[in-house]
Amino acid sequence: MKRKIAVIGGGPAGMTAAIRAAQAGADVTLYEGNDRVGKKILSTGNGRCNFSNEKMGAQYYHGSGKDLTECILERFGTEWTVAFFETLGMRIKSRDGYLYPASDQASTVLDLLRYELDRRRITVHTGKRITHIGTQNGKFILMPGKMCYDAVILACGGCAAPETGSDGNGFALAERLGHRIVSPVPALCALRCRETFYKQVAGVRCDAKVTLFVEGREAAADRGELQLTDYGLSGIPVFQISRHAAKALREKKQVTALVSFLPDLDEEACRKFFKKRLDLRPDDEMTIFLTGIVNKKINSLLLKLAGMREKERAGSVDAASFARLWRLYCGLETKIVDTNGFERAQVCAGGVDCGEVTENLMSKKLPGLYFAGEILDVDGICGGYNLQWAFASGAAAGEAAAL
Ligand SMILES: Cc1cc2nc3c(=O)[nH]c(=O)nc-3n(C[C@H](O)[C@H](O)[C@H](O)COP(=O)(O)OP(=O)(O)OC[C@H]3O[C@@H](n4cnc5c(N)ncnc54)[C@H](O)[C@@H]3O)c2cc1C
Repeated sequence: MKRKIAVIGGGPAGMTAAIRAAQAGADVTLYEGNDRVGKKILSTGNGRCNFSNEKMGAQYYHGSGKDLTECILERFGTEWTVAFFETLGMRIKSRDGYLYPASDQASTVLDLLRYELDRRRITVHTGKRITHIGTQNGKFILMPGKMCYDAVILACGGCAAPETGSDGNGFALAERLGHRIVSPVPALCALRCRETFYKQVAGVRCDAKVTLFVEGREAAADRGELQLTDYGLSGIPVFQISRHAAKALREKKQVTALVSFLPDLDEEACRKFFKKRLDLRPDDEMTIFLTGIVNKKINSLLLKLAGMREKERAGSVDAASFARLWRLYCGLETKIVDTNGFERAQVCAGGVDCGEVTENLMSKKLPGLYFAGEILDVDGICGGYNLQWAFASGAAAGEAAAL
């Protein structure tokens, strides 16, 4: 008799788990609350789906399962994911190691997964949200409908982008089955700042380094294209450090960031740069003196913050004010008061405590129950790492559940 497996959640993790379990000989049924599977995939990578990365390893992930992540990625790393999608028929392209379907369409990834669900004769129930999982004589009973299974794979996602169906209800299902949930917070999201000056620079994009401090201690840093918004900081480098801010803010800690608009220069190099410029152009009015350093709007903001006047001649500025100015280029301090919410976050940090699952992603509390994807307390950085985790953990859980 084939082992009967239910997969709850038709995201990338659930679909991969279902396919892998069916490949391994199980009789698989997939339940998806939405009227279609894989809705979130379509919005990934700005519609192009950055599904994995050539640089792979546990160091690109956070959460309670460093060893677990490593162990899963050793078996189902980038090579596995590439081979999996090539077998399904996808041509792949790499942009600096970031992997995309060659079609540049996220729908390609979703279509190929859907076709494979069909090909493997996996029963897919859409519009069917599972509200309760009970157990009886070693079997699992799913509600509504009282359907009975030998094993269940929970792949309901986290709480990020709830309009796509992953609204945190999977955590409640896991909790009722005895699992501890590490408090979920938004991650890969923008940071909201206290200062009101952001309105003056909203829309500016520039190369910058952003360093995050929690209670005055450096917690994370990243460099890349910063996007300034009317409420604070956004862009990839901000996304990368946002989970640390979210966790600290949840614990009511003080969070600040230092933005360096001259990320190639340390403080001493920055001082020398300004000194040399001053020696060369002492007669310039300050606006003219600063033109060409960084974006015009940033120049004029920093000038104001340093307490200087636009018409002031560079050479007549007193040394203390001049030092205040170049230090602002080196590191503009800003107070982080909040992150954007789950509606505008790409992933959710937190979830089912990885200490409570085996290397095969089976529950240590309830044998036969498995987890895959973002429902677990594993969150990757930007760059294809979260989808890679969804595919890798889905494959591992599907394979193990089928045995
Ligand atoms: C805008 C955006 C862009 C992103 N871009 C990228 C990117 O380029 N690269 C990358 O690696 N990652 C990206 N991500 C993150 C990535 O999409 C997620 O990490 C990944 O989709 C998680 O997969 P999952 O299968 O675990 O969960 P989800 O994709 O969230 O899927 C979970 C599914 O379970 C269903 N479900 C929930 N509860 C139930 C229930 N009780 N019964 C039945 N069904 C249920 C939901 O409807 C949903 O379809 C992005 C995310 C967003 C929001």
